[in-house]
Amino acid sequence: MLSVRQLNPFEEVNLLFDRAADRLGLPDGCREMLRRPWRELQVQVPVRMDDGRIQVFSGYRVQHNAARGPYKGGVRYHPEAGLDEVRALASLMTWKTALVNIPFGGAKGSVQCDPNALSQAELNRLTRRYTTGIDHFIAPHRDIPAPDMGTNAQTMGWMMDAYGLLHGHSPAIVTGKPVELGGSLGREAATGRGVVTLLQEVARDLPMDLKGARIAVQGLGNVGAWVVKLAKKQGCKVVAVSDINGGLYNPKGLDVPALMAINGLDAPADDLPEGDRVTNQELLELDCDVLVPAAIGNVITVENASRIKARLVLEAANHPTTPEADEVLIDRGIEVLPDILVNAGGVIVSYFEWTQNLQEFRWDEARVNQELTKILIAAYREMRAKAKTRNLTNREAALEIGVERVARTVELRGFV
Ligand code: NAD
Repeated sequence: MLSVRQLNPFEEVNLLFDRAADRLGLPDGCREMLRRPWRELQVQVPVRMDDGRIQVFSGYRVQHNAARGPYKGGVRYHPEAGLDEVRALASLMTWKTALVNIPFGGAKGSVQCDPNALSQAELNRLTRRYTTGIDHFIAPHRDIPAPDMGTNAQTMGWMMDAYGLLHGHSPAIVTGKPVELGGSLGREAATGRGVVTLLQEVARDLPMDLKGARIAVQGLGNVGAWVVKLAKKQGCKVVAVSDINGGLYNPKGLDVPALMAINGLDAPADDLPEGDRVTNQELLELDCDVLVPAAIGNVITVENASRIKARLVLEAANHPTTPEADEVLIDRGIEVLPDILVNAGGVIVSYFEWTQNLQEFRWDEARVNQELTKILIAAYREMRAKAKTRNLTNREAALEIGVERVARTVELRGFV
């Protein structure tokens, strides 16, 4: 087993990229172009706080690759979202958009802050200042941000407004906006819906009966909450959930409507559905059939991988599994569907939103969901077929499809 514990998140992603590039026999020059971000921007984000102080945050926008179309990727507000994390996430976006074959490249942005510690007014000012800082770097046909951890539709509304003040009304500058501002129907649920669509597909292949299948979800934010709601609709038993405040476990199944009625697991004990408190670490190791990490990265590590009991891991979060831990899970026969496929529903519906904005035409939700399902299932089938014929893991196959597609575009454009 490789010892890669010292690698930062970007180096971890590049380790996987290098293995794919080796298998594809990519020439050195092309490999270097695909490995490194094409452009990176670091900005200062000074914010006037509600108490009158000025606090200065660090912001980033990393544009990893645009060979296949405009850069595309979310904006994360999180204290640990530094440059290497953002590079890793930008690179994953490149392989994700290529894997699901939508006409975008990969990018990511962040502001290193704790959004829970800021008021709405402070978040509005921070978002405007960040947008002004990166405004020459983004454009509807250059780079299109979206929500990620710590940001949401409201954040995108503020970004669109700040950009529009400088450039005129530009709904296509961001996706994941409120529907009233040109957001797509179905975008909010899209990532979680994609996760559950893939759960249904892989359950058919394994096979696994979803009626009564026990599912544990780490992270009850946008993605996790939709996974919980839609998995329940498929007959799954939601046995555990968590957020930054810790988790809740009930082997008989949590009361999902009661869970959706509270605003975070730090709610008063009387408002919480029946269950035992568990830590985020304990949640990962619970007895369940399906484990869905849907919060931060690097939570499944070589320390806990041997204790994971789930039969299936669906990576809704980005890079939740370290490369070492991935090997342990595979050796133990646990089925792992990789992040670049599992959470691609968000960027697929972002693509639909962008298209609708450019055409100034609105799709109904049924059409959005139908097209989303079509694209995701096609990518899943392609990944499975490649994994089977070439004896690769799902992750290796997914990455190889993405890398090969980007490399081919670079060649056709005549860059190298
Ligand atoms: P969110 O901010 O809406 O929710 C994040 C959740 O994780 C919250 O419940 C938060 O309390 C919890 N959390 C934060 N830190 C944690 C920690 N240290 N331990 C446990 N829980 C913690 O974010 P989201 O949009 O749901 O994104 C979740 C994951 O999905 C991220 O990895 C993100 O990159 C990925 N993702 C999101 C989208 C999208 O459309 N929102 C698309 C693709 C991938």
